[in-house]
Amino acid sequence: MADTEEHHTRILIVEDNPLHLKFFETLLAQSRTAFEVVASDRLSTAIEHLVRGGIDVVVLDLMLPDSSGLDTLGRLLARAPEIPVIVLTSVDDMDVATRAVDAGARDFLVKGRVDADRLDRAIRYALSSSRAIRSEWQSPLLLSAHRQLGKAVQLLDLDDNIRQRLMFPARAHIVSIPFRRDKYDLVETVFGYRVQHVLTMGPTKGGVRYHMSVNLGDVTALAMLMTWKCSLMHLPFGGAKGGVRVDPGTLSHGELQRLTRRYTAEIIDIIGPQKDVPAPDMGTNEQTMAWMMDTYSQQVGHAVPSVVTGKPVVLGGSPARSSATGRGLSFLVQEAATHLGLALEGSTAVVQGFGNVGMHSVHCLAELGVTIIGVSDVSVALHNPRGFSVEALERWVESHGVLAGFPEAEIISPKELLELRCDVLVPAALSGQITAENAGRLQCKIVAEGANGPTTSEADDILEERGIFILPDLLANAGGVTVSYFEWLQGLQNYTWSLEDVNTRLRKLMSEAFHRSMRRSAERHVDLRTAAAMEAIERVSQALLKRGLFP
Ligand code: NAD
Repeated sequence: MADTEEHHTRILIVEDNPLHLKFFETLLAQSRTAFEVVASDRLSTAIEHLVRGGIDVVVLDLMLPDSSGLDTLGRLLARAPEIPVIVLTSVDDMDVATRAVDAGARDFLVKGRVDADRLDRAIRYALSSSRAIRSEWQSPLLLSAHRQLGKAVQLLDLDDNIRQRLMFPARAHIVSIPFRRDKYDLVETVFGYRVQHVLTMGPTKGGVRYHMSVNLGDVTALAMLMTWKCSLMHLPFGGAKGGVRVDPGTLSHGELQRLTRRYTAEIIDIIGPQKDVPAPDMGTNEQTMAWMMDTYSQQVGHAVPSVVTGKPVVLGGSPARSSATGRGLSFLVQEAATHLGLALEGSTAVVQGFGNVGMHSVHCLAELGVTIIGVSDVSVALHNPRGFSVEALERWVESHGVLAGFPEAEIISPKELLELRCDVLVPAALSGQITAENAGRLQCKIVAEGANGPTTSEADDILEERGIFILPDLLANAGGVTVSYFEWLQGLQNYTWSLEDVNTRLRKLMSEAFHRSMRRSAERHVDLRTAAAMEAIERVSQALLKRGLFP
């Protein structure tokens, strides 16, 4: 899954010995992580670089022509206290290294013992641990989740006691996870989270994300959204989310397995079929779930398939899970089209993102007779006014990995893609794609939010004013968690439903949630997004009040 843009980590190396500098540059070039290196041989020029901004981490030799010892670190930290610093030291200077860490350096490296792996590990650890210490709750995602809750609470006239309880999670577990790299003596420590927002409705449910941007605030916001999504769909779950701050693209299969097993072991007391049920999210997949299931099962002594969902079919996973979000979205597009009096047969759609959600949305919309005239992914945006062959697109991506190079289409800019004239626009890639800047130029009748948070609140107002119908993320992409619920249920029953059964039940639950939200929207004269949030939050608050407060 993809919610955030990547950026290369910028490293400032402050080192006056040209041979040592060359050595570090060579080591960094060998790393699997993409680093951008800036060098400086004086403290004064290093400080100038820091003041200019854009540096993520500093590798600092304390002995420089214009400064020496702990004074070098003190002067640098005084100008840039937020930037993590790794101090370079020689074997006979270990005492200084320890004192540097006491004085605020994030880590130290002994010059004679550095190799590419150790340097790489020190940099990632410095970045990750300083984020853990400084900015766990600083998250734009959490801010917007709080705003959404605040608005619904006001309209529902909810009790303050309930509002305050719902702002923060019932339980947030932070773990540090050591795992062995392929080089046997290299152990790396990364940070992981499992946040359970509401324990009132049943077990909690939510994905596990492996990404360098993971922090407590983001994971909490995503757990909150899962609470609302499950409540809106009337699933017997509270919301949860987990994550590990790591770049999975830099790890081998074996490293990913060891990391996943240790992460599972660290959170094993708080997960389980009746406690909390993880699923895949950005950077994780059915293999990750198989390892989590195996680790848990080894611990309890028998196979427990319902401890996770989104597992491989051979372990009890649902064959309908991978297409569920796209299929659920297509069911809701049908509902919206009926509501608007729009015939889908012969209508047109544009889909941003061609991953799990985007590709299956394209497939399911095409099954309904919709002509797909625009598609995009991270590599390219394509337009074909006569309509794409969906099978050809799928075959292309299967063999090439991305859409780039697909023939029979005009290449357009990603910006133009969103503004193509069409009936249905499906943003299914990143958050924050429809903004105040482009909302006035959209030429669609329905926006179906496959991604989480693709529309900013300013854009929402503009689209509303222009009469564009929005299927909000809470509803439009709830098909995934709904089929996860079915998978959990089938695991508990040791019984497999047919594909037809799964899709019929999915359609029923999605359609009921849509009509409940539409009724609320009409009664309270609010947009569908607000109505869906009100439906969800009210149900959670009723459950909290009915159960009462312990003790
Ligand atoms: P994915 O990783 O399978 O696919 C993401 C797609 O977005 C890829 O095709 C990628 O190339 C594309 N992309 C990345 N950057 C882009 C850019 N700048 N412009 C255009 N395309 C770009 O992820 P996914 O599972 O399909 O998830 C997509 C969104 O849907 C995320 O916001 C996710 O949180 C949300 N979501 C997913 C599910 C699910 O079941 N997978 C459920 C609910 C919500």
